[in-house]
Amino acid sequence: MPKPLLLRMTQLYAPTLKEDPVDAEIASHRLLLRAAMMRKIAAGVYSFLPLGFSVLRKVEQIIREEMNAIGSQEMVMSIIQPGDLWHESGRWDVYGPELMRLEDRHGHSFALSPTQEELITSIIRNELRSYKELPKSLYHIQWKYRDEIRPRFGLLRGREFLMKDAYSFHHSHESLQEHYEQQARAYGRICERLGLEYYPVEADSGQIGGKVTREFMALAEAGEAELVYCSCGFAANTEVATADLQPQTYGEAGPAPTELHTPIEGTIAALAEFLKISEHATVKALSGKDASGQLYVLFIPGSHELGEIKVQKALPGFEFLDDDSMVDAGLVKGYMGPVGLPPDVKVVADVSLRDVAHWLVGANKPDHHLQGATPDRDFTVDLWADLACARQGDLCPECGQPLQLARGIEVGQVFQLGTKYSDSMHASFMAEDGTEKPFLMGCYGWGVTRSLAAVVEQYNDDGGIKWPISVAPAEICVLPLVVGDERVAPEAERIAAELLAAGVEVVLDDRDERAGVKFADADLIGWPYQLIVGKRGLEAGEVELKDRQSGEKFSLPLDEAVTAVVGMIEAARARFL
Ligand code: ATP
Ligand code: MG
Repeated sequence: MPKPLLLRMTQLYAPTLKEDPVDAEIASHRLLLRAAMMRKIAAGVYSFLPLGFSVLRKVEQIIREEMNAIGSQEMVMSIIQPGDLWHESGRWDVYGPELMRLEDRHGHSFALSPTQEELITSIIRNELRSYKELPKSLYHIQWKYRDEIRPRFGLLRGREFLMKDAYSFHHSHESLQEHYEQQARAYGRICERLGLEYYPVEADSGQIGGKVTREFMALAEAGEAELVYCSCGFAANTEVATADLQPQTYGEAGPAPTELHTPIEGTIAALAEFLKISEHATVKALSGKDASGQLYVLFIPGSHELGEIKVQKALPGFEFLDDDSMVDAGLVKGYMGPVGLPPDVKVVADVSLRDVAHWLVGANKPDHHLQGATPDRDFTVDLWADLACARQGDLCPECGQPLQLARGIEVGQVFQLGTKYSDSMHASFMAEDGTEKPFLMGCYGWGVTRSLAAVVEQYNDDGGIKWPISVAPAEICVLPLVVGDERVAPEAERIAAELLAAGVEVVLDDRDERAGVKFADADLIGWPYQLIVGKRGLEAGEVELKDRQSGEKFSLPLDEAVTAVVGMIEAARARFL
């Protein structure tokens, strides 16, 4: 670690803002700008000012230490990647407009790295050759580029962002599994050292490929992800969670479905209200078509929402029908049901409806529903699929307790890629039995800039940021009130120098400003501790210490202040190790 220097507010470039910047909707975006941590350059592109940069460096250092501790080695890969590599893996086309592309003067295509599977594979293939050299794990901390459709929320979803990405190469599934678990444990430790309240959740593997994956979610209302979790330790992204949705049967079934007159607006809420029943006893119908143009009506419990990822898995390329297409297909909006659909429309039903003997569904006729529609008797389900998102109160698939819902920020994700890239890019090694085998790969991404936002989302109040000491731009700010005073300034200088000598990171607010301005800035920037050296205090032989996290203030005798503060800071640091 570099030797700590005394930071002086008079030298620091930290133009804090009194007003909330317009269009900064969430706390981290607002406060990182107001506290002079960063400045916006373009949509989803930020530059870091000295304070924000020092936080970024500390976050990086924590990540670096945890990666090194599990035997992953740091390197740095170029941001510019030849388009050919992306053609080889097949992702040049698949990645779509999110991939930022450029051409050189010779007409060669390149991509700005959104991730680095292709590049690392091209580096090791032909050089990492024998099973004897495996496993290997490599990482770098490097800027990434993704032309996100909606860059927003400051550092949460940028177009240029800093990522730690690690890649591992293995000769066996056991070896991959072992390193994957090591990475996951390292991710847990990174969260703890950043002070983040988090859940590791089972997740979808999205663009990257592979099957086994876990996301690390920092809990925050501002998060774009939704997860369900249980006291037994189960947690999953609602996009993939399979839970017991507790669908219910409505009424008794007769020998044939009974028609109900339901002159309501065709929504589930209106139907439940009209019949005075729970939405769990209703069945929701949604129409669409897949990539081949095949028409479907999907049925899910009325209490739940369709999962976008789930439906894409079941019916690739699925799109909803608009009102005109519904009419053309012979479907009755708001009153669709599985009995008597046009013959070219297939019925797909959520697996949870298997537990519902007879369904309350639309009658394919305006203002009418059917009660007691019975699968295999009145209609056929062409495909049973997992379609509905889990929600609050669904039962845990592992222990049966009700699940809780939370929002989260995905700060990291670990994947077992298998041979996806080694197959397409012909990266193989000599196995123990003398045969050529493709590498088994893992990849492990961590959003460095995004985790700054996650920390601020969890650590802020009306006054500003409350940095955990592990990543604060400095550990304590010494605030001399009335710098012109003949005792105050020298005492503050002395205390700051002694703290520095004891290894504490100190900033001295030596500006000739009113007390109110200094307090407001100290709270906004979020130094973990403030030591106030005032004229009246000194006369009484005291200084005052404020803990930014708890808001508590303590008076300390002047001659014991440095020792007491050092003790407190050491104890605070220890909580994050
Ligand atoms: P998301 O689902 O949020 O778009 P992703 O699954 O595309 O993320 P990965 O490809 O797994 O992200 O990237 C690894 C990590 O990089 C993520 O866990 C996240 O912390 C970070 N990250 C991804 N996209 C962005 C972005 N646009 N801005 C900031 N950080 C990002
Ligand atoms: Mg992800």
